[in-house]
This record gives sequence, structure tokens and C-alpha cells, in this order.
Amino acid sequence: MSNTRVAKRLPRDPGPPAWRSIIPEQPRYPKLENKIITDWLIIGGGFAGLSAARRLCQITNTDKIALIEASEIAAGPAGRNSGFMIDLPHELGSGSYQNKIEVDQKHIKLNRQALQFAKDAAEEYSMPTEAVEPSGRINGAVNTDGEKHNKEYAQHLDQLGEQYKNLSSFEMEKITGSTFYKSGLFLPGCLMLQPALYISKLANGISQSNGNKFSIYEHSPAIEIKKNNDSWEIKTPTGSVITKKIIMAVNGHAESFGFFENRLMHVFTYASMTKKLTNDQLTKLGGEKKWGVTPSNPMGSTVRKITGINGDRILIRNRWTFDPSMEVSEQRVSKFGNDQDKSFNDRFPMLSDVEMEYRWAGRLCLSLNSVPAFGEVDKNIYSACCQNGIGTAKGTLAGIGAVDLATNTDSAIVNDMKSYDAPKKLPPKLISYLGANAIIKWRELKAGKEL
Ligand SMILES: Cc1cc2nc3c(=O)[nH]c(=O)nc-3n(C[C@H](O)[C@H](O)[C@H](O)COP(=O)(O)OP(=O)(O)OC[C@H]3O[C@@H](n4cnc5c(N)ncnc54)[C@H](O)[C@@H]3O)c2cc1C
Repeated sequence: MSNTRVAKRLPRDPGPPAWRSIIPEQPRYPKLENKIITDWLIIGGGFAGLSAARRLCQITNTDKIALIEASEIAAGPAGRNSGFMIDLPHELGSGSYQNKIEVDQKHIKLNRQALQFAKDAAEEYSMPTEAVEPSGRINGAVNTDGEKHNKEYAQHLDQLGEQYKNLSSFEMEKITGSTFYKSGLFLPGCLMLQPALYISKLANGISQSNGNKFSIYEHSPAIEIKKNNDSWEIKTPTGSVITKKIIMAVNGHAESFGFFENRLMHVFTYASMTKKLTNDQLTKLGGEKKWGVTPSNPMGSTVRKITGINGDRILIRNRWTFDPSMEVSEQRVSKFGNDQDKSFNDRFPMLSDVEMEYRWAGRLCLSLNSVPAFGEVDKNIYSACCQNGIGTAKGTLAGIGAVDLATNTDSAIVNDMKSYDAPKKLPPKLISYLGANAIIKWRELKAGKEL
């Protein structure tokens, strides 16, 4: 293995980061334009990177910490997601064997540690309430398959001793204003984030509370990582960092540096957000001020009604594509916008005059065996990557866990992360490309009305 790793590609985020566009301007950070020396370098400023930063600031005294972000804070996937920070996994182990119950309970406990981390950060940095709200989510069912899924899920929750509430079609209408849903399963533990607000305030809060100890650099992608005796030198287009330890928090872009090669699946999903709803439109819609519905079928549409600094809006997310190039075109975003419009009209026929203001796509990273890309991947380089699509909670855990591992801190997160196999090798590129996209299409077709 050569001493130098050059980034094969850098992140490109198609469409605007809508969540960030609807909040007041947040502090911006300088570009790295000189050579700096630090104890720690965090590469990537999303959930994993910023959680690692907060954790490092908490457990080190005099260490200097820098974070470099290729783009801007909250402009990447961290500010593009739907903001469901879930405590209960989407899939629970089937059957009632005691060991499966224990595994689910362990994961729920760890996820709740991530949720608590977000709540604590929100309090410590005096975030506005809409950044992190403990308002729960609903798993909406639109057909008999969805209802069956919710029923089985509720049975698992009974075995786990978890709370939930069944919602009738009438109750769903009272909450969402829509007659589209046959029923729903309310899961109270989910935190609802305004993801761009949370991530921006997290970055700002850590910076403000740690003075010279911690620095963020935006528009400063790592383009080369080179070993220099006992330290690492990381180059950006206009500067460089000499550091002892690196936390690699770039999710799928770990592969761009040659880590976990051919083991990570790069997937995009797509979303649209309406313009601010007028009073007249809000009256026609009815329902509660804010709510979030995840689909019973994972290929279905996620829908959120939000209310906040910039008015009331509806967000709708659907469609998936597998893109090993880690890039998708603006045309694709616009084409899939038609699918979001259709799903929106199906659910809210009374809002036929409402237009979408933002359309975007975002990157996710999955592994074939649904495990994280975690651990020490080279001497003193710690990976906190591959969140398998639920990165608000898992990315938070991975960031904390990578720091715990790097500092030899006794940690339930590290013990859990270490218990997984490595991400499985993918089949040859063309086969995975064709195969994965065919499977996605087929599953989307099967999702039917859920889309
Ligand atoms: C539309 C959409 C909806 C979603 N909804 C949800 C949801 O409701 N709940 C949920 O849990 N998850 C959701 N996700 C997934 C979630 O956004 C991701 O899992 C999460 O952002 C991953 O966090 P991360 O910190 O690991 O990676 P990222 O958020 O991708 O952060 C990595 C950062 O690294 C930076 N980077 C990459 N390469 C370099 C480099 N060379 N140098 C410097 N910086 C670099 C990137 O710019 C990026 O900012 C959704 C995703 C999308 C796209």
C-alpha cells in the first residue's frame, strides 16, 4: 500500500439544500488557506463528523481539533434528509427468540443514546425548539400490505415492551388532513429534526464553546492523505493539515480514498418541498400543525408537514437510485420531481394549487450486509462511515464511537460496532449496477400506492 491516498472524487450535491434555504443565514467558516498542525483532524462535517467533534471536545483537554468540510455545513446530506431521528429500527428481528429480542433492545438503547446526544446538544447550545422536537413519527399504511406490516411491527413492539398507538383512518385524517391513509402506527420515541438547523447550530455551538481548541474549515475538501512518519499530512486545494489522528466521517466517500473498496453501495433518494402554505391552503388542508409519516413499505413516500421560522410547508421524499459514480444529474432530480408531485396530489387533492419551491437529491451509503464501515482503517485513521440510510442516529453513534475507539474509551458503541462483520464485497460493478437498479424498480412497482 502506497503512503499516499488521493481522493478519486469529491462530493456533488444536486439541487438546493432546502432545509438550509428556509432558515436565517447561519455562520460560515473560512477556507483552509495555510498549513496547520493539529492533534485531530475530522474529515466531513455531517452527523458523524460533528458528533465526533463534540465528543472529542468533551473528552480531551488541550488537544487541538480541526474539521474540514468539502462543501458547507448543512449543505450536504446532513441538511438534505427528512429529519427522522429514529430510535426504533425500521426492521425488527422476526420471531420471538430471546436473542433477537435482546439484539433489538440493544440497538434501541444505542439509538436512544444518539437521540439523547442530540437533545443534550440542543439544550447546551440553546437551539430553537424546531431544531430537535420529540414529537414522534407515524408509520402510515395505505393498503393491506402496509397494514399487515404495521400489525407485525406492533407485535414485535409488544415483545420488546415498547410504546405505540394504532391510528384509524379517521385519526390519520385528523392529524394529516389527508384521507389517503388507511391507518397508522404512532411511534412516540422518534425525534423530529430540522436537520439543517440542528447541524448548523451544532457546528456553531461546538465552535463557540471551545474557542481556539476547535476550528471548522468549509470549502476545504481533503484531496490527498499522506503518511509522514508518525503523523498524517492532508492536503486541501489551498492548504494542508499535519495531524496525529484522523476521524474519517465522509460516509460513502470513504471509498473515494480507497477505503472499503467495492464494499459500499452509493444510493440517492429525492425530495421536494412546497412553497410556504397560505392561510387559505392551511384551512383547506386541516389537520395538525406538524407531523411526520414514514411509509410502511420502505420504497414508499415519506411525508412531513413542518411549521417554523419560515412558515408551514410540506416535504415529500421518494424514489431511490443506485449510483456507484456518486453523482446524479439535475435532470434526474427534476424528472423524479414528477413522482413527488403525483404522490403529493394523491395525498392532498385539496392543495392542487400548491407549488413546490425546492427539489433536491441526496447521497446515502449502504452495505450489502447492513453493517457500518467502522474502525481503525490505517494507523490512527478511524472510520465512522456507512450509516445504512439512517444516519441521523447511526452517524451520531459512529462519530462518538470512532472517538471512543481512538481514545481507548470504554464504550458500548464501540463494543457494538466491533461485533459486526466487515461490509460484504459487492458483485462486479456492472452486475451490481444493473441488478440493484432492477431490484429498486421492481420494489418500487410493488410498493404501488405507498409511493
Ligand atoms: C433525501 C434524504 C432523506 C433522508 N432522510 C433521513 C431520515 O429521515 N433519517 C435518517 O436517519 N437519515 C436520513 N437520510 C440519510 C442521512 O442523511 C445520512 O445517513 C446522513 O447524512 C449520514 O451522515 P454522515 O455524517 O455519515 O454523512 P454525510 O451527512 O454525508 O456527511 C459527510 C460529509 O463529508 C463531506 N465530505 C465528503 N468527502 C469529503 C472530502 N474529501 N473532504 C471533506 N469533506 C468531505 C460531505 O460534503 C458531507 O458533508 C436521508 C438522506 C436523504 C438524501
